Amino acid sequence: MSAHLTAGQKALLEAALVQRQHQLDRRLAEHHGGLTRAEHAHEVLEQDPREASQREEEREVDMALSDLELRELGEVSAALRRLQAGRYGLCAGCEAEIPFDRLKAEPWALRCVACEGAFERKARLTA
Ligand SMILES: [Zn+2]
Repeated sequence: MSAHLTAGQKALLEAALVQRQHQLDRRLAEHHGGLTRAEHAHEVLEQDPREASQREEEREVDMALSDLELRELGEVSAALRRLQAGRYGLCAGCEAEIPFDRLKAEPWALRCVACEGAFERKARLTA
């Protein structure tokens, strides 16, 4: 159990996560303008070719942003699930308790600072 967090701290972090989740939901909806990727591809085919490349570039930026937001949304949802399961705030690498200050800055943090650093170094090496 993540007993190092008080009920008040957990409530605060949960509120921050829920707020972030809503924010990301809204932004994703705005970026897609209600379009799925398939519909978007269809729209690109049908428009004026002179406008198409510029609009496509704008869309690409939106899609890249959406990918980031989707990933973050996944992290936020996973953090909320961990909260419900009583596993929140424990490092996924070494099971250490992640300090409240780190969680306050990044409520969806999966790892302690040491493990996050090691994970990112490894990710860079395999990339
Ligand atoms: Zn760790």
